[in-house]
Amino acid sequence: MPFRSIVGHRRLLALLSRAVARDTLPPALLLAGPAGVGKRRAAMAIAEAVNCLKPQQDVVSGFPGRRSAEREGGSRTEVSGSRTDSGAAEFTRDACGECPACRRIQRGVHPDVIVIEPGDMGSIKIEQVRDVIDRADYRPFEGRRRVVIIDEADALMPAAQNALLKTLEEPPSASMFVLVSSIPDALLPTVRSRCSRLRFAALSTSEVTEVLRRDHEYSEQDARAVAVDAEGSVGRALQAESADLVEAREGAQRLLEYTARAGDPSRRLDAARDVTGKKSTSVGERDQLAACLRALGSLIRDVSILSAGGDRGLIGNSDLEPQLASLAKSFDGKRSASAYAAIDEALAALERNASPKIVADWLVLQL
Ligand SMILES: [Zn+2]
Repeated sequence: MPFRSIVGHRRLLALLSRAVARDTLPPALLLAGPAGVGKRRAAMAIAEAVNCLKPQQDVVSGFPGRRSAEREGGSRTEVSGSRTDSGAAEFTRDACGECPACRRIQRGVHPDVIVIEPGDMGSIKIEQVRDVIDRADYRPFEGRRRVVIIDEADALMPAAQNALLKTLEEPPSASMFVLVSSIPDALLPTVRSRCSRLRFAALSTSEVTEVLRRDHEYSEQDARAVAVDAEGSVGRALQAESADLVEAREGAQRLLEYTARAGDPSRRLDAARDVTGKKSTSVGERDQLAACLRALGSLIRDVSILSAGGDRGLIGNSDLEPQLASLAKSFDGKRSASAYAAIDEALAALERNASPKIVADWLVLQL
């Protein structure tokens, strides 16, 4: 997948693309950040951009509706993405995605692009690493540069990490190593220090929605409901039960609309019944209420953006924008902020094993 097709992380990807064009990619990279945000895709995009037979120059691409924002910080060897790092970007050099080299890389059969990942036992053994170290000394077979991608690099056994050290220190000029990890601190400090680290941030709700719709055939409604509960991770979204989350988000929306109108406490408590008591087990009930509360938090966040006249591109539940806009009349900044704090407290109470019914009752009176 070329850089331009990856959702989010525009600044980091543009930086990588520029480094490929200038031939200044560090020989050892560590792509760090939450699981399921596209780090492995970025590693594959590097391999494609390096070895594509018909590379494209100066491709302008952007995920629509979002603006790009730079974040301060980051040293020479550490660059960070950010949640708003998703506007248009210019890729100095990008893969075509269609030539024989790109296709072979995508199918995992390019002789110079080697992906190492944990085996059945969940770890990466020294034999797997020895094999690529031996190959790294030879010239690439057909590509410009051999790219060794170590996915879930934190699963490298200590002996395997030690075997890698010397190669990472003085990598053969025709090879580069891309380590991918969501828990980089689990790597030996000696391995980490030999890699230039790129820090990937969580995706925005809209970006997760975009990936679910484009690559995983989710409907708009399912994608939104799952995305608001995914903490910016497509991987997490894909593991979720979309039916339950659709129900949770619908429940949250009804609750919000109801409390916006009803001041009468007893009628509000009826609304609380609506979001609890449908699951047969107490664990199911607790999880479902927690999902509903997280969806409610996401809706209130959107309402507060609308009531403050903020950037509509930041709205996570953009399919509900008309309904949220009318709710924004009842929820000014102050009410939104206190509702948000109450949701936080309710979620904490659920974690402490408080009764879902009591939590729901308490919450509806706070909104
Ligand atoms: Zn190509």
